[in-house]
Amino acid sequence: MARILSKEISEYVGKDIELSGWVNVVRAHGKVLFLDLRDRSGIVQLVFIPSNKELYSAAAELRPEWVISVSGTVNKRPNGMVNLNIANGELEILVSHIHIEAKAKTTPIDVGGDGHEIGEESRMKYRYLDLRRGRMQKNLRSRATFIQTMRELLVGHDFAEIETPVLTRSTPEGARDYLVPSRTEKGKFYALPQSPQQYKQLLMVAGYERYFQVARCFRDEDTRGDRQPEFTQFDIEMSFIEESELMNLMEEVVVKTIEKTFPNKKFAKRFEIMNYADVMAKYNSDKPDLRQDKNDPNELAFLWVIHFPLFEKSEAENRLVSMHHPFTAPETNDIPLLDTDPSKVMARAYDLVLNGYEVGGGSIRINNRELQEKVFETLKIPKEIYEAQFGHLLEALEYGAPAHGGIALGLDRFLSILLNEPNIREVIAFPKTGDGRDLMMDAPSQVSKDQLDELGLKINIKQ
Ligand code: ASP
Repeated sequence: MARILSKEISEYVGKDIELSGWVNVVRAHGKVLFLDLRDRSGIVQLVFIPSNKELYSAAAELRPEWVISVSGTVNKRPNGMVNLNIANGELEILVSHIHIEAKAKTTPIDVGGDGHEIGEESRMKYRYLDLRRGRMQKNLRSRATFIQTMRELLVGHDFAEIETPVLTRSTPEGARDYLVPSRTEKGKFYALPQSPQQYKQLLMVAGYERYFQVARCFRDEDTRGDRQPEFTQFDIEMSFIEESELMNLMEEVVVKTIEKTFPNKKFAKRFEIMNYADVMAKYNSDKPDLRQDKNDPNELAFLWVIHFPLFEKSEAENRLVSMHHPFTAPETNDIPLLDTDPSKVMARAYDLVLNGYEVGGGSIRINNRELQEKVFETLKIPKEIYEAQFGHLLEALEYGAPAHGGIALGLDRFLSILLNEPNIREVIAFPKTGDGRDLMMDAPSQVSKDQLDELGLKINIKQ
């Protein structure tokens, strides 16, 4: 007999089946013993009656979180025992045989409830147990379907999924880089990408025209709110487009993805669009929450914010810095202002806001060398620095770079909003704590002297 899933039992009423999973709850009801068995598809009630003595006493030994396989018959529950509020609430399994696959110690955290009452440290240390709870199962499985749906829609629009390196060099997205020492070239370092920005632009130069990637990005920032040192972006780039075409296509993909994966959500299928200046004047924020009823867990309010300034003043450095990143194209009519009044130059950039959070951002990019150099110069980046850091990109722009632009959606934040989770840690399988540690793996951790020697590194602090 082959194993079936708990969600399939209704197809087998009156028949013998085999199930495997974890013991969820054991309870005695008079003389009859009931046990809820949990598998990836849900829960099913197992029944043991005292007349089968051997089996009954074996069942009485079972404890929560033991892994078992059982064979038995799918029966309709007696009238008084039917529970129409739960899946499989009309059915139960009269067990004829149990096999214990693995025993379990009493778990250090309860995996039955939603886990809100359990301290973060314990949840993170025992994440593999924490992930057993129904809430986390739902979150991670919704995440998987969301990604899969969006992937299929993009592929349907002729996008190619292309991976880009994780060992790379610094890209200027405005945060600190994570560095990885090179063994072969001692004293040199790779940087982990803050985003695949330059690679995706180079893929446009390479003629791929429509790229996407579920990309891991790394930013070594001091913890603010619930940021994560590594996070996931749905990263997209397209050639031969203007802002409106990209925004329309993204809108279609986002709407269809949500309709399929979160059918209860209520939202306008055409997103509002506002200028940055107007949105700031009206809401004093560039990511206002435009929901009618902020208590409605199923309401979504999307907003595109456009017409950002290309630069903003960095008070600390007393110079202009890019509001998005230095590859963002200026409005064509504003290009002369780069020489005369750069702070007035507007960008061909757009942000996607959802319920008061920025869930995406992107721009049309610069696709010629002179303009890209002019922007670096306006940013007061010395020529030898931008040549060293971005020489490859500047050169690429001289070999036939199409008009192109893209966007990145912050998947973790997007999903936490859709799942009504206040914290992105609740939609990431193995997140770091607020101070950047992985408590389960105990990372970061010390490494051996041999490993350091091989890399030509010496630790200069007392440990
Ligand atoms: N690379 C940008 C970011 O990570 C997004 C983009 O311009 O496509 O925010």
